[in-house]
Amino acid sequence: MKKIGIAVLLVSTLNAFSQNDPARLTEVWNPQPRIVIPGTNSTDAPSDAIVLFDGKNLNEWAFENGKAASWNLENGILTVTKGMGEIQTKKSFGDCQLHIEWRSPALVKGEGQGRGNSGIFLMGKYELQVLDNYENKTYSNGQAGSIYKQAAPLVNASRKPGQWQQYDIIFTAPTFNKDSALKSPGRITVLHNGVLVQNNTTIWGATQYIGIANNKWHNEKLPIKLQDHGDAVSYRNIWIREL
Ligand code: MG
Repeated sequence: MKKIGIAVLLVSTLNAFSQNDPARLTEVWNPQPRIVIPGTNSTDAPSDAIVLFDGKNLNEWAFENGKAASWNLENGILTVTKGMGEIQTKKSFGDCQLHIEWRSPALVKGEGQGRGNSGIFLMGKYELQVLDNYENKTYSNGQAGSIYKQAAPLVNASRKPGQWQQYDIIFTAPTFNKDSALKSPGRITVLHNGVLVQNNTTIWGATQYIGIANNKWHNEKLPIKLQDHGDAVSYRNIWIREL
């Protein structure tokens, strides 16, 4: 009995002490972060991701005119079919974390922008360039990992043509006031093969081939597009987490 009494006294003393511990004042216990089950590998879709392409079908994609997407799908790999045009997600997205794996053709053809060119258009407007930039010089703000004609990648982390590469993208959509004026521009962070190439980069506006981009009002969520630039670039393992 004596021992139990001492133990109770000790615990209550500790509780009283911890409640008055100034270090506790800055501890946040509620709410606790939501639990997400990660994949076995960091490239696998975590439990709260929307799988956009897992090699089985193109159910999550359509052509711009709404018709079923029919780029070449073989052995779980999706490949741009020249001349068919862009494909886009059926769902619309704003702020997101996007994982996407791509491969430029092993057989090297063309140079500069004409070699393994495709692209990922966040909100269908903001192009993260896909290009075979392995020993292939082009303008820096048009190479792989660039925000096309806006922001060069911090480094060139390209793998050889024919090898799979990956982008991990964290995208913050632009916001607009009620009068349609820009409230906050879009921002993007990109890891290319695990290497940081865009670090919270400000996006100037919808990608332009000619002229300076500027931000124009659009919906809060829009489909993601993949570019048909005429090169047989392949894609696999595409998943997204809405933020
Ligand atoms: Mg492109």
